[in-house]
Amino acid sequence: MMKSPRFDIDLDKHYNATVVIACDCGHETRHHLASLHPDNKLSCACGADISLPATALDMAQRRTDALKASYRVH
Ligand SMILES: [Zn+2]
Repeated sequence: MMKSPRFDIDLDKHYNATVVIACDCGHETRHHLASLHPDNKLSCACGADISLPATALDMAQRRTDALKASYRVH
């Protein structure tokens, strides 16, 4: 099974989602969720592979939807 990197979701005021991928080296790499695809090869500044597999992208999308829903409540 492919190891998937740890990541967080940031929403800007227009609800555009940014995926913040945390590498083991401590560096964070930011990508717009809309620009990510499962076959994208992403690498950290340290050279580590931080590509997000389709399952991780699905999870990112679901987390984004949940965040948007919670923002509308408050
Ligand atoms: Zn790194």
